[in-house]
Amino acid sequence: MNRAVYPGSFDPITTGHIDIIERGLAVFEQLTVAVAIHPDKTGLFGIEERIELIHKAVGHDSRITVDSFEGLLVDYSERVGASVVLRGLRAVSDFEYEFQMANMNRHLNSSVETCFMMTGAGLFYVSSSLVREVAQLGGNIDDLVHPTTAVALQAKYNR
Ligand code: ADP
Repeated sequence: MNRAVYPGSFDPITTGHIDIIERGLAVFEQLTVAVAIHPDKTGLFGIEERIELIHKAVGHDSRITVDSFEGLLVDYSERVGASVVLRGLRAVSDFEYEFQMANMNRHLNSSVETCFMMTGAGLFYVSSSLVREVAQLGGNIDDLVHPTTAVALQAKYNR
């Protein structure tokens, strides 16, 4: 069984993430969507809230596991039996950071490979941070997130 880990902040999950998950499942039999816990970084949504929003956005699919992890990604990947880390690329600006991370992870554990998928058509400008900003300012986020996530964002910003 080939399993990939799709790690990220998912604060919150967007249609860009969902697109990578759907296309990832065309390549990998099992996907673990893993919310990274950074002890020194508090996001808008708590870790459990992010996990719940991911569950609701992807629906029930036995191929998808949603989890969170702390510590090194390569160690976590090994623990869940994944030899591939899946990441998305939106623009050249993503490349430098992703290239550095992929190489650091390879340095830490050469048996874990990083696989990149290009953003879906018309989703290159979608990021969690921009979606949060638009929601906070009362803009329309309907095409950018799952309806459940839109409601959760509106609740956070009392709209
Ligand atoms: P991180 O803080 O680890 O970058 P994110 O939740 O922002 O976490 O992103 C997780 C992964 O999803 C990253 O690989 C990012 O490039 C990818 N991603 C986010 N939005 C999109 C999008 N619109 N299209 C393609 N990939 C995306």
